[in-house]
Amino acid sequence: MKSNKILEMDQVSFKYEKEWVVKNVDLVIERGQFLGLVGPNGSGKSTLIKLMLGLVKPDKGSINLFDQSLKQFNKWQEIGFVSQKANSFNSGFPATVLEVVKTGLVSRIGAFRFFNRKHKEKALESLRTVEMEEYANYNIGELSGGQQQRVFIARALVSDPSLLILDEPTVGVDAQHVTDFYDLLGRLNKEKEISLLMVTHDIGTITEHATHVVCMNKTVHFHGASEEYKNFDDQDLNRLYGHSVHQLSHNHDHEVSNS
Ligand code: ADP
Repeated sequence: MKSNKILEMDQVSFKYEKEWVVKNVDLVIERGQFLGLVGPNGSGKSTLIKLMLGLVKPDKGSINLFDQSLKQFNKWQEIGFVSQKANSFNSGFPATVLEVVKTGLVSRIGAFRFFNRKHKEKALESLRTVEMEEYANYNIGELSGGQQQRVFIARALVSDPSLLILDEPTVGVDAQHVTDFYDLLGRLNKEKEISLLMVTHDIGTITEHATHVVCMNKTVHFHGASEEYKNFDDQDLNRLYGHSVHQLSHNHDHEVSNS
């Protein structure tokens, strides 16, 4: 029987230099889950994602993707990734929305092959999913941060992934569009049956939308259903952060506005 495990980390540790940045992480993501990954700045969230994507290699432990060791894994079209910087193109960037979305097909068709009509249809279908089809011929830099974010989600969806990983996607999306953004993620998760892993500081909102939450600081301090996370209060972790883990969102806003 096919297992439900999309990703499995077993005692994964990693360091860039001398200090462990990720330490003894055990983590399982199952098909259908919408997992919120939270933790203070510098707690290793982006590094954990780099490990999942094979961009850095664990010093200890093992990672499986879709029941296959990451060392052998090659079905990268199963995993869509939207990076933190995906919504910061300026107005002079010379690419249309459609062109940006089509680049998501490069891993499938090879970098130097031509896009055909089928690829264009696929890209337009992805844009329709994120409700951005009418912007297909706009220059990417003409769009707002939130609209660009949707285009990059369309780019990640174009290869029909089973898992979509998003690194702080709500940064740069204005408050009134954040609800629409979560509605989109909810549709992808429930209607398109795409499992989601989203890094965020927005704890208040993520617990309303995600099915599960992981709270980490080098190692995993909490992993469970969102409902349980609302009641989770870890004294050791609070001491580490200097405030309740539930104030992370507020604290981050403060840091951003001062920077
Ligand atoms: P988060 O995403 O939770 O903010 P990161 O994974 O970006 O955390 O960073 C974790 C730690 O690793 C931080 O102390 C950061 O300074 C360090 N770090 C991140 N990237 C590098 C890198 N390329 N080289 C050296 N240290 C890094």
